[in-house]
Amino acid sequence: MSQRSLILVTVDCLRADHAGWLGYDKPTTPFLDSLAAESVAFSNAIVAGSPTYYSFPAIMASRYPLALGRDVAGLAPGEHTIASALKEYGYATAAFAAANPYLSARFGYNNGFDIFDDFGQKKSRETAQKNEIDSPDLLGAFNQLINKLSHKSKWMGTFYDELYFRYCQNTASRQDSLDEARPYPTADIVAQKAIAWLMANAHRPFFLWLHFMDAHSPYYPSMAAWEAMGHQSFDTEYARYWNAYWNRSDVGKRRLARHQDNVISLYDAGIRWVDMQLGKLVSQLHELQVWNRCIFAITADHGEEFLDHGQRYHSPSQTGEELTRVPLLIHVPGESLPKSVHSPYSLMHLGPTLLDALDVPAPATFRGRSVWSHIKNNQAWEDVAIVENVAGCTNPFYRKNRLHPRILIVRESRYKMVIDFSVPKIQLFDLALDPHEASPLPEESEKSVHKRLLERASEHIASSMKSRDTETSFMARLSELRLECSQSSEQQQSA
Ligand SMILES: [Zn+2]
Repeated sequence: MSQRSLILVTVDCLRADHAGWLGYDKPTTPFLDSLAAESVAFSNAIVAGSPTYYSFPAIMASRYPLALGRDVAGLAPGEHTIASALKEYGYATAAFAAANPYLSARFGYNNGFDIFDDFGQKKSRETAQKNEIDSPDLLGAFNQLINKLSHKSKWMGTFYDELYFRYCQNTASRQDSLDEARPYPTADIVAQKAIAWLMANAHRPFFLWLHFMDAHSPYYPSMAAWEAMGHQSFDTEYARYWNAYWNRSDVGKRRLARHQDNVISLYDAGIRWVDMQLGKLVSQLHELQVWNRCIFAITADHGEEFLDHGQRYHSPSQTGEELTRVPLLIHVPGESLPKSVHSPYSLMHLGPTLLDALDVPAPATFRGRSVWSHIKNNQAWEDVAIVENVAGCTNPFYRKNRLHPRILIVRESRYKMVIDFSVPKIQLFDLALDPHEASPLPEESEKSVHKRLLERASEHIASSMKSRDTETSFMARLSELRLECSQSSEQQQSA
């Protein structure tokens, strides 16, 4: 069989600078490091949006997240994706996506897949409902009253918050295993399901998408990965405590920083667990004798912040490289390809590039373009990557959140412009001199760069408006309204 298959792996929250092959000094990715030696490694792969719900439309459908209007979250009904293109071409298609609610059928990500397993969606809903039920017990009316009264004074409020945090820690039920604490299936469970599917389907061209949540908070790695990272085994209570402390909204950056290293160690072990399972998956592909006809790509939907710019997790209002730059490896068997690509490379172009490498035409709706011929012919190129988010939209289930102002990032190799329409504010960074984006350049400096990047931003907005697919946009809006109506009637019935 000559037709190649495709495996796309996405790791939620995997920041580029925590991948070994991109220079991280801890052993998070030994298997992928060895694979990187025979793959094309992109050192400046940039997401098209962040977090998950603003990133994935570009990865799967090669479309900017706001291109169908700001209140379309996820994919539009029937929108063409890598999966639908390959299914039409006769590929067997399967997705095993580890319980990220924004990668569910509700957001259209089942489109084009013969098998779509989103694992914990039911579990997530049950957990959310359980928390709603538990909350009134934990923070009853009396407690809420004390909370309110104590916060009338600053020091009393601080005292109350501290006391309440300690009370919660003391009364939390003890867990002997971290398995119970995770709201998502671990990489071994996802990989096992994928292997079972491959056993039955790898005889024909296939597209397999795996999404892992092991690096996502809460950070509860498997003990085996923790030990593989060179740590002694630890009491699971530490992990629970570090996560709880890290999640506190009542303490400042200075106090949070006390547990920063511990939390990063847990996060790193999550990455290591994914790496270990990918090693097993690839050896299984060797055994099935299909590895040599598989294109294998691994990337992330966004990174993760550990107080780099004062925040935690992956807020859509944050714009640092720790969130927007992600790892990307593409392994293509039997091709002599360059080892690295340094140009900014938007994940908008990933779908078209992978389909081109498979010799499958990209859907006309894809807005990115293939760079496969550049890679194949070892031609360097220089590009600009655009990132767009909606400020403060931490929960896209609510329409009013999706309608917040836009944040736009224009990323060149050296310069990066951040335009935050919610303030409004424009900042320009010189990544060569200030790679951690500690301070924007003074307004009067680099005027020509300023002008050039602003022009790119306005071109992007103009072309988004011009190329808007109004019919798809309308259908997506209609679908959203239907979902919102059914959710509110469900809530009314259960109230
Ligand atoms: Zn994500």
